[in-house]
Amino acid sequence: MFNKCKYIIICLIVSAAVSAADELTAHFLNVGHGDAIILQFPQGTVMLVDGGMPEYGEKVVDYLSDLGLSHYLDYIMLTHSHDDHVGGLNFILQNLTVGKVLLSEYSEPTELYQRFIFLVDSLQIPQRIVSRGDVLEIDSLNMEIINPPAGKTLEALRGPNGASIAMKIDIGETDMLFMADVDKMTDMEIVNEYGKGLEAAVLKAAHHGSGVSSTRFFLDAVKAKIAVVSTGASEWNYPSEETMERIKRYVPEVYRTDEAGDIIITVDGENITVETQ
Ligand SMILES: [Zn+2]
Repeated sequence: MFNKCKYIIICLIVSAAVSAADELTAHFLNVGHGDAIILQFPQGTVMLVDGGMPEYGEKVVDYLSDLGLSHYLDYIMLTHSHDDHVGGLNFILQNLTVGKVLLSEYSEPTELYQRFIFLVDSLQIPQRIVSRGDVLEIDSLNMEIINPPAGKTLEALRGPNGASIAMKIDIGETDMLFMADVDKMTDMEIVNEYGKGLEAAVLKAAHHGSGVSSTRFFLDAVKAKIAVVSTGASEWNYPSEETMERIKRYVPEVYRTDEAGDIIITVDGENITVETQ
């Protein structure tokens, strides 16, 4: 599964800043409608961002095992409490030891989310609530949390999507921006807050390419070279054609997990390499 048919697709970008040893790899797993992203930091720290729907937990565990990670995972970040993000994590918690869990301050007490919190508590895994302005130094890189703002309410943020954790990893000229499932009101609010600070070479587009995500205002601010849309069949028929057209107007290279399969992007501050399987 993991080793078959790898195609190097591109390799570009200029400038200097970060040493070649500082490589960050993001694996955007094809988990149908949902998100599951594995981040490998320069000195080997690994973070799983979301786990897809429950039926994809096993795929994520197998994939981690193919990467040589059968027993231990440094971090799980749950961006928000919806099933297509928290679902697979329960299987992962039952199969690997996890060092720390990062959570949004706001959540809906769904059955799968409650099960997740029950497991995290029972396993005594340290938890940290992260919010806008927090900077996590992981290996040699900084990850800045840009959403949600602290001290609001779930209602004020228009529910779990608006409250989902969005973050940016700084790495020279090849920053990566991860937008979870933020809605268009939130992405516009983030542009107002960060402006040019949002520029990033690689964008994980928000909310599976839905019709209420990735505004022109936002895409214009990010100026991404590459975008990834994590999406698959669902009752909502994401991604929206209009949103995909809009993303393609602003971003030269756009990849979808439902078309490309697992998408692996490595950046080193100067270069970007994309592989699909
Ligand atoms: Zn989602």
